[in-house]
Formats: sequence, structure tokens, C-alpha cells
Amino acid sequence: MGGKFRKALVGAFLLPVIVAVTSGCDTASSKSNAQAEGSNKDSRPNVVILFADDLGYGDLGSFGHPYIRTPRIDSLAAEGQRWTDFYVAAPVCSPSRAALLTGRLPVRSGLYGNSIRVYFPGEPGGLPQGETTLAEALKSQGYATAMFGKWHLGDAPHALPTRHGFDEWEGVPYSNDMNWVDEPDFDALVKMSLTGDTAQRAAAYARRAAKYANPLAAHFEAPLFFSKATPDGFVDGVEQPTDQTQLTQRATESAVDFIRRSADRPFFLYMPYSMPHTPLFRSDEFVDRSLGGRYGDVVEEIDWSVGAIHDALAEAGVLENTLVVFTSDNGPWLFMREEGGVSGLLRDGKGTTFEGGVRVPTVFYWPGTIAAEVVSDIGSAMDLFSTVMALVGGDAQSATDGVDLSSRLLGQGVSPRVEMPYYRGGTLYAYRKGPWKLHFITEGAYGLPPKRQEHDSPQLYHLHRDPAERLNVASQHPEVVADMLATVAAHKARVSVAPPLFDARLAALMTQAKP
Ligand code: MG
Repeated sequence: MGGKFRKALVGAFLLPVIVAVTSGCDTASSKSNAQAEGSNKDSRPNVVILFADDLGYGDLGSFGHPYIRTPRIDSLAAEGQRWTDFYVAAPVCSPSRAALLTGRLPVRSGLYGNSIRVYFPGEPGGLPQGETTLAEALKSQGYATAMFGKWHLGDAPHALPTRHGFDEWEGVPYSNDMNWVDEPDFDALVKMSLTGDTAQRAAAYARRAAKYANPLAAHFEAPLFFSKATPDGFVDGVEQPTDQTQLTQRATESAVDFIRRSADRPFFLYMPYSMPHTPLFRSDEFVDRSLGGRYGDVVEEIDWSVGAIHDALAEAGVLENTLVVFTSDNGPWLFMREEGGVSGLLRDGKGTTFEGGVRVPTVFYWPGTIAAEVVSDIGSAMDLFSTVMALVGGDAQSATDGVDLSSRLLGQGVSPRVEMPYYRGGTLYAYRKGPWKLHFITEGAYGLPPKRQEHDSPQLYHLHRDPAERLNVASQHPEVVADMLATVAAHKARVSVAPPLFDARLAALMTQAKP
């Protein structure tokens, strides 16, 4: 798409126009269990999940970053629970998000890929209707539900957030780097791989690397989708290209507006920020503001957003009746160098099953209910479904792989999660039990060292004594290795691995690519 056309589109969408592109006969209310609308005296808590993209374990002041200033998130961390050992279920976007929303391991739901790691534009599939999301579960309890930000679970109409329990959504349907200008698209890149055209593919990746390092609006044409579930069907619209410098500002404005509109009824607000995923964009006010460069600017704008949402909850008088969770979808994208974050003292980053890939900076905040504390029990984004439903008094049976953390949040017990599996695609690479972690396979992120290595004798690390995973102590603790192997065998017996949905697109492309 050329520059002229892009400007024309931007101009057209300066008007508050929403174009209805689909309107289904499957009405918006058909999936909701039309429970009575919440009453003013409803004491059930509101739920706000703030979810950064590719924010590393070491990228917040409260998690040790010396230069990026995040005073608003830090104050939530100081007044609430700061969790040191909180995990996502996958080291990349789409499966991590699926696990948060469903409480299920991606291998169980099929929401993963072994060749195609995340969803791309033009995806015919997406989150299956058979999966129950936290938004659907809360909607069936009478909650107002809204999402402002990145989806990444399919861009086909049937897969959009409003078809999965959100009353309203505004956001980019996938990563903000997936609509390249003058670069091969997903199908073209896959065909280059399938036909062995590695030189052309390498040249495309080199050009793209330079564009990530100098992100200009002219290089990317990300769409901003608008979608509402109405009694008459779904109303969808799109603004493309959207101005990425405004993504954090606009999502925040919409969230604040939603809080003001919903204060008389329990609500669920899901805020999956498009940032700090590359290409990095921030509004003028945040340009050159951080000592941490463009990446720092972008994180500081997210911190501003968290503060604005906190203030809106306070102004609406619902702060003490709202659970706020802040976390990230996976570790930092180290390939992006200065445009990516850091995992602090943890090893490696996004894409890997080292701690830096899947352990994320996490805060639970609920003034008057959650007391200030640093928690080193194990928790997972997969547990949010079960935890929230326990607090709300609803059913979490579909959340097969989550546990209820509510007693730990309320200071009444320990976390019931003592184990954590580490999957990369459909393969179990490592397993944690208590402070111990056993690696079966180690591998760097895509294209980065260390090379993939299957360990005939699994590597054992004690994460409390050695959080950076430097010291393999398997030979000193054979009894721990034996116990963990039995635990892993029991895990594998419990979990049936569904076929990878993300790879389904590959079969069609392989057929087309045949000479
Ligand atoms: Mg991500």
C-alpha cells in the first residue's frame, strides 16, 4: 500500500466512523447466559488485567531496572503483592494469551504450533468456539466485559474477541509488526522457506531488522479493529493503517471511559498492550523521556497508562472493590537488541524455556484486601481464570490446567501451584517442582544461540540458589532427578496433546509451493 493511499485512509478515519463489515445472525447474546444485569449493591469484585507484550522480568523499577522509571506500577507492587515466580504457559504471544484466557495449556487446546509459532494475518482458524474464555465466564455472571489492545488469537470475524465473551474491543488483532510495507508477507516468506530460497529470505530478514531498529510509520500498516457485540449482532470496523504512536494513549482513553460507564455494575477490563513489542512507538509526550532509550520511553508510557487506569478506578469509587493484575505475555525479545527489554538476572528471553522466556514481572493489587508482600510461591497466568472465578463465585471447571490462587492473595494459605511445565511448541522442554527445575532440551530463541540440545541426562538447577540457571547440579542430587522424572511422567499421563492449530495453514502452502 503506497503512501498516498495510506494518508487518504488516515484522513478518512479522523472522523469517528465505524464501518460495519460483518453482522452475523449468530447474535451477540447467544453465547451469554443472560443473567440479570448487576445491581448497584453488587459486592463482587471488578477485575482488571494489565498485560504488557514482551516486557522482560527486569524491565520495571520494582523488578530491578536501574533506569526505566515505572513509579505507578511500582506503587501497586509496593502496596500489593509482588510475585517473583510467576509464569506464562508459553514463551511467545499467541499460546501465552490463549492460556491466560482459557486456563488451559496450549498443548491441550491445540493453540500452539511446531512450525508456525503464532497466528499471522489472514488466519482462517483462530480461537475455537469450544474454548471457554474468562470473558465468557464473567459475562455469564453478569459482568460487563471489555478489551482494549492486542488479541493475537485469530483475525477472522468468527475468532474476534467479541465472539469470545467481550462486549467490546478496540485493538490490533495481532502483533504490530505483521503488516510490512514493501516486504514479503507471511505466505511469501513461508514459500521461500519451503522452496529452499534461503538467500531471498535472509535478505528480507536483514531489511526488516534495519526497519525494526529505525521504526517509521511508513514501514508498518497495522490495523486497529473496533468491534461491539450488540443485541442485533456484531458491529465491526477497521482503521488501517493506524497511527502506532497513539496505540497506548487510545487504549487508555477507552479503558478510562469504560470504567466510568461501568461503575454501577461489576466489570472485567482486559488491557493487552501492543507495546513494548517491536516496532516501538510512543506518543510525542514520551519521546526521549527515558534514560532507557526508545524502549524505556515505551515502558514509561505503559506506566503512565497504568496510573491513569488506577486514577479512573479511584475516581469511580471502585478501587477497593477491584482486583488489578499486571503481568507480561512472555520474556524480552533479545534479538531486537536495544529495541528489546531485559530479563534481569534470569537467563535468556522470549522464545526459550529458560527462566527469562517465561517468568514475567507480576503484581496483584487490591487495596484493603491484598496486603503488601513479596510472594515467591509459584503462580501462572493460567491460574487467573480459576482465581478470578473463585473470587467471583463462579465455575472454573473448563480451566483444566489452572489452580485457584485466591487464598494466597488473601493471605490465608500458600499457592497450590508447586509444579510448572515449560513447553516450546508441542514439546515439553523443562519442568519445575518447588525450587527445582529439570531441563530435557535447551535451545536459544529462533536464530540465536545456544543450539538445540537434547540432554540424555537432564540438567538440574536450584532456582532459589541459582536463579540465573548457571549451575547444573544433577549429579549431586540424583534423588531429586528421580522424583522429578516420576512427576513429569504423571504430568504427561494427565495431559493429552492436541494437534497444533497454528500449523494447519502450512499444509495448504506446502501444496501450493510444490513445483
Ligand atoms: Mg509477546
